[in-house]
Amino acid sequence: MSDPMRYISTRGGIEPVDFKQAVMMGLADDGGLVIPERIPDVRDRLDHWRGLDYPDLAFEVMRLFTTDLPDDELRELCRRTYGPAFEPEPAPVVRVGDRYILELWHGPTLSFKDIALQMLGNLFERILADSGGRLNILGATSGDTGSAAIAGVRGHERIDIFMLHPHGRVSPIQRRQMTTVPDDNVHNIAVEGSFDNCQQIMKTLAGDLDFKRRYSLGAVNSVNWARVLAQMVYYFAAVFRVQAETGASSVRVCVPTGNFGNILAGWYARRMGAPISTLILATNDNDILARFFRTGKYARGQVHQTLAPAMDIQVASNFERYLYYHVGEDSAELRRHMERFAETGSLEVPAAPGGVDPVIEAGAATRDEVLSAIGRCHDQTGYLLDPHTACGWAVAESLVPVAAGAGAGDCGAGEPTLCVSTAHPAKFPEAVAEATGRDDLARHPEIDKLADFEEKFDVLPDDAERVRRYIVEMVG
Ligand SMILES: *Cc1c(COP(=O)(O)O)cnc(C)c1O
Repeated sequence: MSDPMRYISTRGGIEPVDFKQAVMMGLADDGGLVIPERIPDVRDRLDHWRGLDYPDLAFEVMRLFTTDLPDDELRELCRRTYGPAFEPEPAPVVRVGDRYILELWHGPTLSFKDIALQMLGNLFERILADSGGRLNILGATSGDTGSAAIAGVRGHERIDIFMLHPHGRVSPIQRRQMTTVPDDNVHNIAVEGSFDNCQQIMKTLAGDLDFKRRYSLGAVNSVNWARVLAQMVYYFAAVFRVQAETGASSVRVCVPTGNFGNILAGWYARRMGAPISTLILATNDNDILARFFRTGKYARGQVHQTLAPAMDIQVASNFERYLYYHVGEDSAELRRHMERFAETGSLEVPAAPGGVDPVIEAGAATRDEVLSAIGRCHDQTGYLLDPHTACGWAVAESLVPVAAGAGAGDCGAGEPTLCVSTAHPAKFPEAVAEATGRDDLARHPEIDKLADFEEKFDVLPDDAERVRRYIVEMVG
Protein backbone atom coordinates (compact mmCIF):
# COMPACT_ATOMS: atom_id res chain seq x y z
CA MET A 1 0.00 0.00 0.00
CA SER A 2 1.46 3.38 -0.99
CA ASP A 3 1.21 6.57 1.01
CA PRO A 4 -1.88 8.60 0.16
CA MET A 5 -1.29 11.00 -2.74
CA ARG A 6 -2.81 14.44 -2.48
CA TYR A 7 -3.02 17.14 -5.14
CA ILE A 8 -2.26 20.84 -4.86
CA SER A 9 -2.44 23.79 -7.25
CA THR A 10 0.56 25.32 -8.98
CA ARG A 11 -0.70 28.66 -7.65
CA GLY A 12 -0.94 27.42 -4.07
CA GLY A 13 -4.55 28.47 -3.56
CA ILE A 14 -6.47 25.24 -2.91
CA GLU A 15 -6.67 22.82 0.01
CA PRO A 16 -5.07 19.49 -0.95
CA VAL A 17 -7.53 17.14 -2.68
CA ASP A 18 -7.45 13.44 -3.53
CA PHE A 19 -7.19 11.95 -7.02
CA LYS A 20 -10.92 11.63 -7.71
CA GLN A 21 -11.46 15.27 -6.78
CA ALA A 22 -8.49 16.31 -8.91
CA VAL A 23 -9.96 14.50 -11.93
CA MET A 24 -13.37 16.11 -11.50
CA MET A 25 -11.86 19.54 -10.89
CA GLY A 26 -10.02 19.82 -14.23
CA LEU A 27 -8.52 23.28 -13.82
CA ALA A 28 -7.76 24.07 -10.15
CA ASP A 29 -10.34 26.32 -8.49
CA ASP A 30 -7.71 29.06 -7.98
CA GLY A 31 -7.02 29.20 -11.73
CA GLY A 32 -3.82 27.16 -11.48
CA LEU A 33 -3.14 23.61 -12.57
CA VAL A 34 -3.54 20.56 -10.35
CA ILE A 35 -0.30 18.71 -9.57
CA PRO A 36 0.64 15.85 -7.23
CA GLU A 37 2.18 17.02 -3.96
CA ARG A 38 5.24 14.81 -4.61
CA ILE A 39 6.77 12.82 -7.47
CA PRO A 40 7.48 9.18 -6.52
CA ASP A 41 10.92 7.68 -7.17
CA VAL A 42 10.47 4.30 -8.87
CA ARG A 43 14.07 3.39 -9.74
CA ASP A 44 14.02 0.46 -7.31
CA ARG A 45 11.23 -1.27 -9.27
CA LEU A 46 12.15 -0.63 -12.90
CA ASP A 47 13.42 -4.18 -13.32
CA HIS A 48 10.12 -5.57 -12.11
CA TRP A 49 8.17 -3.20 -14.35
CA ARG A 50 10.11 -4.25 -17.47
CA GLY A 51 8.40 -7.63 -17.40
CA LEU A 52 4.82 -6.31 -17.30
CA ASP A 53 2.32 -6.04 -20.13
CA TYR A 54 0.80 -2.62 -20.87
CA PRO A 55 -2.32 -2.86 -18.66
CA ASP A 56 -0.31 -4.09 -15.67
CA LEU A 57 2.34 -1.42 -16.18
CA ALA A 58 -0.44 1.20 -16.37
CA PHE A 59 -1.76 -0.15 -13.08
CA GLU A 60 1.65 0.07 -11.37
CA VAL A 61 2.35 3.62 -12.58
CA MET A 62 -1.11 4.98 -11.93
CA ARG A 63 -1.66 3.45 -8.49
CA LEU A 64 1.14 5.64 -7.09
CA PHE A 65 -1.06 8.64 -7.92
CA THR A 66 -4.57 7.22 -7.43
CA THR A 67 -4.40 6.10 -3.83
CA ASP A 68 -8.09 6.81 -3.20
CA LEU A 69 -9.09 4.18 -5.80
CA PRO A 70 -9.03 0.56 -4.57
CA ASP A 71 -6.32 -1.51 -6.29
CA ASP A 72 -8.73 -4.07 -7.72
CA GLU A 73 -10.85 -1.31 -9.30
CA LEU A 74 -7.84 0.39 -10.85
CA ARG A 75 -6.48 -2.91 -12.17
CA GLU A 76 -9.82 -3.64 -13.78
CA LEU A 77 -9.95 -0.11 -15.26
CA CYS A 78 -6.51 -0.55 -16.81
CA ARG A 79 -7.39 -3.98 -18.24
CA ARG A 80 -10.65 -2.68 -19.70
CA THR A 81 -9.16 0.54 -21.10
CA TYR A 82 -6.07 -0.97 -22.69
CA GLY A 83 -7.77 -4.07 -24.10
CA PRO A 84 -9.44 -4.55 -27.50
CA ALA A 85 -9.84 -0.78 -28.10
CA PHE A 86 -6.14 -0.73 -29.00
CA GLU A 87 -5.05 -2.95 -31.87
CA PRO A 88 -2.67 -4.77 -31.61
CA GLU A 89 -1.59 -2.94 -28.43
CA PRO A 90 -1.56 0.64 -27.08
CA ALA A 91 2.08 1.59 -27.67
CA PRO A 92 4.11 -0.52 -30.10
CA VAL A 93 7.70 0.48 -30.87
CA VAL A 94 9.10 -0.04 -34.37
CA ARG A 95 12.56 0.51 -35.76
CA VAL A 96 12.70 2.93 -38.70
CA GLY A 97 16.11 3.53 -40.20
CA ASP A 98 18.41 4.56 -37.40
CA ARG A 99 15.65 5.53 -35.01
CA TYR A 100 12.79 4.02 -33.08
CA ILE A 101 9.21 5.16 -33.39
CA LEU A 102 6.61 4.87 -30.64
CA GLU A 103 3.26 4.48 -32.41
CA LEU A 104 0.59 5.97 -30.18
CA TRP A 105 -2.25 5.87 -32.69
CA HIS A 106 -3.61 2.36 -32.34
CA GLY A 107 -6.77 3.50 -30.53
CA PRO A 108 -10.25 4.18 -31.95
CA THR A 109 -9.58 7.63 -33.48
CA LEU A 110 -5.96 7.04 -34.59
CA SER A 111 -4.28 9.76 -32.52
CA PHE A 112 -2.34 9.58 -29.26
CA LYS A 113 -5.17 11.36 -27.48
CA ASP A 114 -7.06 8.05 -27.32
CA ILE A 115 -4.59 6.68 -24.79
CA ALA A 116 -5.55 9.27 -22.20
CA LEU A 117 -9.17 9.91 -23.19
CA GLN A 118 -10.17 6.24 -23.19
CA MET A 119 -8.88 6.12 -19.62
CA LEU A 120 -10.50 9.43 -18.65
CA GLY A 121 -13.92 8.28 -19.92
CA ASN A 122 -13.70 5.11 -17.86
CA LEU A 123 -12.46 7.03 -14.82
CA PHE A 124 -15.35 9.48 -15.03
CA GLU A 125 -17.79 6.60 -15.21
CA ARG A 126 -16.21 4.88 -12.21
CA ILE A 127 -16.22 8.06 -10.11
CA LEU A 128 -19.80 8.97 -11.08
CA ALA A 129 -21.02 5.47 -10.26
CA ASP A 130 -19.65 5.93 -6.73
CA SER A 131 -21.13 9.40 -6.27
CA GLY A 132 -24.41 8.69 -8.07
CA GLY A 133 -23.88 11.86 -10.13
CA ARG A 134 -24.01 12.78 -13.80
CA LEU A 135 -21.64 14.80 -15.96
CA ASN A 136 -22.16 16.98 -19.01
CA ILE A 137 -18.91 17.41 -20.85
CA LEU A 138 -18.59 20.58 -22.87
CA GLY A 139 -15.68 20.84 -25.28
CA ALA A 140 -14.49 22.80 -28.27
CA THR A 141 -12.31 21.22 -30.91
CA SER A 142 -10.47 22.11 -34.06
CA GLY A 143 -9.54 18.50 -34.73
CA ASP A 144 -8.27 15.47 -32.85
CA THR A 145 -9.48 16.20 -29.32
CA GLY A 146 -13.16 16.13 -30.23
CA SER A 147 -13.20 12.70 -31.78
CA ALA A 148 -10.98 11.17 -29.08
CA ALA A 149 -13.12 12.67 -26.30
CA ILE A 150 -16.30 11.42 -27.96
CA ALA A 151 -14.81 7.95 -28.41
CA GLY A 152 -13.84 8.01 -24.73
CA VAL A 153 -17.36 8.58 -23.38
CA ARG A 154 -19.76 7.33 -26.09
CA GLY A 155 -22.44 5.11 -24.63
CA HIS A 156 -21.51 5.89 -21.02
CA GLU A 157 -24.74 6.10 -19.03
CA ARG A 158 -23.94 8.94 -16.67
CA ILE A 159 -22.29 11.22 -19.21
CA ASP A 160 -23.45 13.45 -22.07
CA ILE A 161 -20.90 15.14 -24.28
CA PHE A 162 -21.45 18.40 -26.16
CA MET A 163 -18.66 19.03 -28.65
CA LEU A 164 -18.44 22.34 -30.50
CA HIS A 165 -16.59 22.54 -33.80
CA PRO A 166 -16.38 25.42 -36.27
CA HIS A 167 -18.92 24.71 -39.04
CA GLY A 168 -17.18 23.93 -42.33
CA ARG A 169 -13.72 24.55 -40.90
CA VAL A 170 -12.58 21.15 -39.69
CA SER A 171 -11.26 18.61 -42.16
CA PRO A 172 -13.89 16.19 -43.52
CA ILE A 173 -12.10 13.25 -41.90
CA GLN A 174 -11.95 14.91 -38.51
CA ARG A 175 -15.60 15.97 -38.77
CA ARG A 176 -16.76 12.51 -39.73
CA GLN A 177 -14.81 10.94 -36.87
CA MET A 178 -17.06 12.95 -34.56
CA THR A 179 -20.36 13.11 -36.37
CA THR A 180 -20.72 9.47 -37.38
CA VAL A 181 -20.81 8.28 -33.77
CA PRO A 182 -24.44 7.21 -33.32
CA ASP A 183 -24.74 7.05 -29.51
CA ASP A 184 -27.51 9.15 -27.94
CA ASN A 185 -25.18 10.75 -25.38
CA VAL A 186 -23.06 12.36 -28.12
CA HIS A 187 -24.10 15.85 -29.27
CA ASN A 188 -22.08 17.47 -32.04
CA ILE A 189 -22.64 21.18 -32.49
CA ALA A 190 -21.33 22.94 -35.59
CA VAL A 191 -20.98 26.59 -34.66
CA GLU A 192 -21.25 29.18 -37.42
CA GLY A 193 -17.92 30.74 -36.55
CA SER A 194 -14.24 30.01 -35.98
CA PHE A 195 -12.55 27.70 -33.49
CA ASP A 196 -11.91 30.77 -31.32
CA ASN A 197 -15.67 31.48 -31.30
CA CYS A 198 -16.27 27.88 -30.17
CA GLN A 199 -13.75 28.25 -27.38
CA GLN A 200 -15.30 31.54 -26.33
CA ILE A 201 -18.73 29.92 -26.05
CA MET A 202 -17.25 27.14 -23.95
CA LYS A 203 -15.52 29.63 -21.66
CA THR A 204 -18.67 31.73 -21.30
CA LEU A 205 -20.79 28.76 -20.26
CA ALA A 206 -18.15 27.15 -18.04
CA GLY A 207 -17.48 30.55 -16.46
CA ASP A 208 -21.14 30.83 -15.39
CA LEU A 209 -20.64 29.00 -12.10
CA ASP A 210 -24.36 28.73 -11.42
CA PHE A 211 -24.98 27.04 -14.76
CA LYS A 212 -21.85 24.97 -14.38
CA ARG A 213 -23.02 23.61 -11.02
CA ARG A 214 -26.66 23.10 -11.95
CA TYR A 215 -25.76 21.19 -15.11
CA SER A 216 -22.62 19.46 -13.75
CA LEU A 217 -20.45 20.78 -16.54
CA GLY A 218 -17.11 19.01 -16.89
CA ALA A 219 -14.08 19.38 -19.15
CA VAL A 220 -11.82 16.93 -20.94
CA ASN A 221 -9.10 19.32 -22.06
CA SER A 222 -5.45 18.52 -21.73
CA VAL A 223 -5.00 20.20 -18.34
CA ASN A 224 -6.89 17.35 -16.67
CA TRP A 225 -4.36 15.56 -14.47
CA ALA A 226 -5.67 12.13 -15.42
CA ARG A 227 -4.61 12.75 -19.02
CA VAL A 228 -1.04 13.54 -18.05
CA LEU A 229 -0.96 10.53 -15.74
CA ALA A 230 -2.24 8.05 -18.34
CA GLN A 231 0.39 9.33 -20.78
CA MET A 232 3.32 8.66 -18.43
CA VAL A 233 2.82 4.94 -18.83
CA TYR A 234 3.91 4.70 -22.46
CA TYR A 235 7.20 6.45 -21.78
CA PHE A 236 8.18 3.65 -19.41
CA ALA A 237 6.85 0.96 -21.76
CA ALA A 238 8.64 2.34 -24.82
CA VAL A 239 11.98 3.06 -23.20
CA PHE A 240 12.03 -0.49 -21.78
CA ARG A 241 11.49 -1.81 -25.33
CA VAL A 242 14.27 0.26 -26.84
CA GLN A 243 16.61 -0.79 -24.04
CA ALA A 244 15.74 -4.45 -24.58
CA GLU A 245 16.65 -4.11 -28.27
CA THR A 246 19.78 -2.04 -27.92
CA GLY A 247 21.13 -2.67 -24.44
CA ALA A 248 21.42 1.10 -24.03
CA SER A 249 21.36 2.48 -20.51
CA SER A 250 19.24 5.46 -21.52
CA VAL A 251 17.26 6.81 -24.45
CA ARG A 252 16.64 10.25 -25.99
CA VAL A 253 12.98 10.84 -26.63
CA CYS A 254 11.63 13.28 -29.21
CA VAL A 255 8.08 14.58 -28.75
CA PRO A 256 6.06 16.79 -31.13
CA THR A 257 4.15 19.17 -28.93
CA GLY A 258 1.42 21.82 -28.89
CA ASN A 259 -0.07 22.20 -25.42
CA PHE A 260 2.98 20.68 -23.70
CA GLY A 261 0.77 17.78 -22.57
CA ASN A 262 2.48 14.79 -24.13
CA ILE A 263 6.03 15.91 -23.37
CA LEU A 264 5.07 16.87 -19.81
CA ALA A 265 4.13 13.23 -19.18
CA GLY A 266 7.60 12.26 -20.44
CA TRP A 267 9.14 14.83 -18.13
CA TYR A 268 7.30 13.32 -15.11
CA ALA A 269 8.31 9.80 -16.17
CA ARG A 270 11.94 10.90 -16.31
CA ARG A 271 11.69 12.55 -12.90
CA MET A 272 10.28 9.30 -11.51
CA GLY A 273 13.30 7.45 -12.84
CA ALA A 274 12.46 6.34 -16.40
CA PRO A 275 15.82 5.93 -18.21
CA ILE A 276 15.35 8.96 -20.46
CA SER A 277 18.46 11.12 -20.88
CA THR A 278 17.05 14.04 -22.86
CA LEU A 279 13.65 15.10 -24.10
CA ILE A 280 13.63 16.72 -27.52
CA LEU A 281 10.76 19.15 -27.83
CA ALA A 282 9.55 19.71 -31.40
CA THR A 283 7.10 22.35 -32.58
CA ASN A 284 5.92 23.50 -35.98
CA ASP A 285 6.01 27.21 -36.97
CA ASN A 286 4.06 27.94 -33.78
CA ASP A 287 7.31 27.85 -31.90
CA ILE A 288 6.62 29.61 -28.59
CA LEU A 289 7.84 26.57 -26.65
CA ALA A 290 10.94 26.03 -28.77
CA ARG A 291 11.85 29.69 -28.35
CA PHE A 292 11.32 29.47 -24.60
CA PHE A 293 13.62 26.49 -24.15
CA ARG A 294 16.34 28.10 -26.26
CA THR A 295 16.18 31.66 -24.92
CA GLY A 296 14.17 31.71 -21.67
CA LYS A 297 11.60 34.04 -23.18
CA TYR A 298 8.00 32.83 -23.37
CA ALA A 299 6.25 35.31 -25.64
CA ARG A 300 2.90 34.94 -27.31
CA GLY A 301 2.86 35.32 -31.12
CA GLN A 302 0.39 34.97 -33.99
CA VAL A 303 -1.11 31.51 -34.55
CA HIS A 304 0.07 30.11 -37.91
CA GLN A 305 -1.89 27.48 -39.80
CA THR A 306 0.42 24.56 -40.53
CA LEU A 307 0.36 21.02 -41.86
CA ALA A 308 0.25 19.80 -38.23
CA PRO A 309 -2.95 21.50 -37.02
CA ALA A 310 -3.08 19.79 -33.60
CA MET A 311 0.07 21.76 -32.77
CA ASP A 312 -1.18 25.14 -34.03
CA ILE A 313 -1.18 26.55 -30.53
CA GLN A 314 0.47 29.65 -29.14
CA VAL A 315 -0.25 29.46 -25.43
CA ALA A 316 0.50 25.96 -24.15
CA SER A 317 -1.96 25.15 -21.39
CA ASN A 318 0.28 22.60 -19.63
CA PHE A 319 3.36 24.82 -19.62
CA GLU A 320 2.42 26.20 -16.22
CA ARG A 321 3.04 22.80 -14.66
CA TYR A 322 6.57 22.71 -16.04
CA LEU A 323 7.26 26.30 -15.01
CA TYR A 324 6.17 25.52 -11.44
CA TYR A 325 8.94 22.95 -11.10
CA HIS A 326 11.38 25.12 -13.02
CA VAL A 327 11.02 27.94 -10.48
CA GLY A 328 11.70 25.54 -7.61
CA GLU A 329 8.08 24.65 -6.72
CA ASP A 330 7.57 28.22 -5.54
CA SER A 331 3.88 29.12 -6.03
CA ALA A 332 4.40 32.81 -5.31
CA GLU A 333 7.12 33.06 -7.95
CA LEU A 334 5.00 31.06 -10.41
CA ARG A 335 2.04 33.38 -9.82
CA ARG A 336 4.22 36.41 -10.52
CA HIS A 337 5.32 34.90 -13.84
CA MET A 338 1.77 33.99 -14.89
CA GLU A 339 0.43 37.40 -13.93
CA ARG A 340 3.16 39.07 -15.98
CA PHE A 341 2.30 36.84 -18.91
CA ALA A 342 -1.42 37.64 -18.62
CA GLU A 343 -0.64 41.36 -18.59
CA THR A 344 2.09 41.65 -21.19
CA GLY A 345 1.95 38.45 -23.27
CA SER A 346 5.43 37.41 -22.24
CA LEU A 347 7.50 36.14 -19.34
CA GLU A 348 11.18 35.35 -18.98
CA VAL A 349 13.46 33.06 -16.97
CA PRO A 350 17.29 32.96 -16.98
CA ALA A 351 18.84 30.86 -19.77
CA ALA A 352 22.33 29.43 -20.16
CA PRO A 353 23.95 29.46 -23.63
CA GLY A 354 22.71 25.90 -24.16
CA GLY A 355 19.14 26.81 -23.19
CA VAL A 356 16.87 26.88 -20.18
CA ASP A 357 17.00 23.24 -19.14
CA PRO A 358 19.75 20.69 -19.83
CA VAL A 359 17.07 17.97 -19.96
CA ILE A 360 15.02 19.58 -22.74
CA GLU A 361 16.45 20.33 -26.18
CA ALA A 362 14.11 22.18 -28.50
CA GLY A 363 13.57 22.96 -32.16
CA ALA A 364 10.89 24.02 -34.63
CA ALA A 365 10.19 22.49 -38.04
CA THR A 366 9.10 24.64 -40.97
CA ARG A 367 6.54 23.58 -43.55
CA ASP A 368 9.31 22.62 -46.00
CA GLU A 369 11.14 20.62 -43.35
CA VAL A 370 7.98 18.70 -42.48
CA LEU A 371 7.26 17.87 -46.12
CA SER A 372 10.86 16.91 -46.72
CA ALA A 373 10.94 14.67 -43.62
CA ILE A 374 7.81 12.79 -44.75
CA GLY A 375 9.19 12.40 -48.28
CA ARG A 376 12.72 11.35 -47.33
CA CYS A 377 11.66 8.98 -44.58
CA HIS A 378 9.27 7.28 -46.97
CA ASP A 379 11.85 7.08 -49.76
CA GLN A 380 14.59 5.73 -47.55
CA THR A 381 12.68 3.40 -45.25
CA GLY A 382 9.18 2.91 -46.66
CA TYR A 383 7.72 4.22 -43.41
CA LEU A 384 5.06 6.92 -43.63
CA LEU A 385 5.11 9.74 -41.05
CA ASP A 386 2.10 11.92 -40.34
CA PRO A 387 2.88 15.67 -40.34
CA HIS A 388 2.94 15.94 -36.52
CA THR A 389 5.37 13.07 -36.15
CA ALA A 390 7.34 14.55 -39.04
CA CYS A 391 7.89 17.75 -37.02
CA GLY A 392 9.57 15.59 -34.40
CA TRP A 393 11.49 13.60 -36.99
CA ALA A 394 12.84 16.77 -38.61
CA VAL A 395 13.85 18.35 -35.31
CA ALA A 396 15.47 15.13 -34.08
CA GLU A 397 17.41 15.02 -37.36
CA SER A 398 18.67 18.56 -36.86
CA LEU A 399 19.70 17.94 -33.25
CA VAL A 400 20.93 14.34 -33.46
CA PRO A 401 22.77 14.07 -36.77
CA VAL A 402 22.83 10.50 -37.96
CA ALA A 403 26.42 9.32 -38.34
CA ALA A 404 27.61 8.93 -41.91
CA GLY A 405 28.00 5.47 -43.37
CA ALA A 406 25.72 2.45 -43.51
CA GLY A 407 24.90 0.91 -40.15
CA ALA A 408 26.74 3.57 -38.19
CA GLY A 409 23.61 5.38 -37.07
CA ASP A 410 22.62 6.19 -33.55
CA CYS A 411 20.98 2.82 -32.97
CA GLY A 412 24.36 1.19 -32.89
CA ALA A 413 27.13 2.76 -30.92
CA GLY A 414 25.55 5.93 -29.50
CA GLU A 415 22.43 6.54 -27.55
CA PRO A 416 19.22 5.51 -29.31
CA THR A 417 16.59 8.08 -30.26
CA LEU A 418 12.89 7.33 -29.88
CA CYS A 419 10.46 9.52 -31.83
CA VAL A 420 6.94 9.70 -30.44
CA SER A 421 4.39 9.31 -33.25
CA THR A 422 1.10 11.01 -32.42
CA ALA A 423 -1.19 10.27 -35.37
CA HIS A 424 -1.73 7.79 -38.18
CA PRO A 425 -0.88 9.44 -41.53
CA ALA A 426 -4.33 8.57 -42.93
CA LYS A 427 -5.76 11.36 -40.76
CA PHE A 428 -3.77 13.89 -42.82
CA PRO A 429 -3.83 12.62 -46.41
CA GLU A 430 -3.29 16.02 -48.08
CA ALA A 431 0.04 16.63 -46.35
CA VAL A 432 1.21 13.12 -47.19
CA ALA A 433 0.18 13.52 -50.82
CA GLU A 434 2.00 16.84 -51.07
CA ALA A 435 5.14 15.36 -49.53
CA THR A 436 5.28 12.15 -51.51
CA GLY A 437 3.47 13.08 -54.72
CA ARG A 438 1.13 10.12 -54.17
CA ASP A 439 -2.43 10.12 -52.89
CA ASP A 440 -2.72 6.36 -52.41
CA LEU A 441 -0.33 5.98 -49.48
CA ALA A 442 -2.11 7.48 -46.49
CA ARG A 443 -4.95 5.00 -46.02
CA HIS A 444 -6.55 3.27 -43.08
CA PRO A 445 -9.66 1.04 -43.20
CA GLU A 446 -11.27 2.88 -40.27
CA ILE A 447 -10.97 6.17 -42.15
CA ASP A 448 -12.24 4.64 -45.39
CA LYS A 449 -15.28 3.28 -43.55
CA LEU A 450 -16.31 6.73 -42.31
CA ALA A 451 -17.72 7.64 -45.70
CA ASP A 452 -20.41 4.96 -45.33
CA PHE A 453 -21.90 6.22 -42.07
CA GLU A 454 -24.54 8.83 -41.60
CA GLU A 455 -23.47 12.10 -39.97
CA LYS A 456 -25.30 13.59 -37.01
CA PHE A 457 -24.79 17.21 -35.94
CA ASP A 458 -26.74 20.40 -35.35
CA VAL A 459 -25.73 23.79 -36.70
CA LEU A 460 -26.07 26.67 -34.24
CA PRO A 461 -25.21 30.36 -34.56
CA ASP A 462 -22.14 31.80 -32.83
CA ASP A 463 -24.18 32.59 -29.73
CA ALA A 464 -23.50 31.23 -26.24
CA GLU A 465 -27.17 31.64 -25.24
CA ARG A 466 -28.32 29.42 -28.09
CA VAL A 467 -25.81 26.76 -27.07
CA ARG A 468 -26.93 27.07 -23.46
CA ARG A 469 -30.59 26.52 -24.46
CA TYR A 470 -29.55 23.55 -26.59
CA ILE A 471 -27.82 21.89 -23.65
CA VAL A 472 -30.76 22.57 -21.34
CA GLU A 473 -33.20 21.08 -23.86
CA MET A 474 -31.08 17.98 -24.40
CA VAL A 475 -30.37 17.30 -20.75
CA GLY A 476 -33.86 18.23 -19.57
C1 LIG B 1 -2.90 16.93 -29.65
C2 LIG B 1 -1.87 16.47 -30.61
C3 LIG B 1 -0.52 16.87 -30.50
C4 LIG B 1 -0.04 17.81 -29.42
O1 LIG B 1 -0.10 17.23 -28.16
P1 LIG B 1 0.17 18.13 -26.85
O2 LIG B 1 -0.16 17.24 -25.71
O3 LIG B 1 -0.79 19.28 -26.97
O4 LIG B 1 1.55 18.54 -26.88
C5 LIG B 1 0.39 16.37 -31.42
N1 LIG B 1 0.00 15.55 -32.42
C6 LIG B 1 -1.28 15.16 -32.57
C7 LIG B 1 -1.63 14.28 -33.70
C8 LIG B 1 -2.26 15.59 -31.66
O5 LIG B 1 -3.54 15.20 -31.82
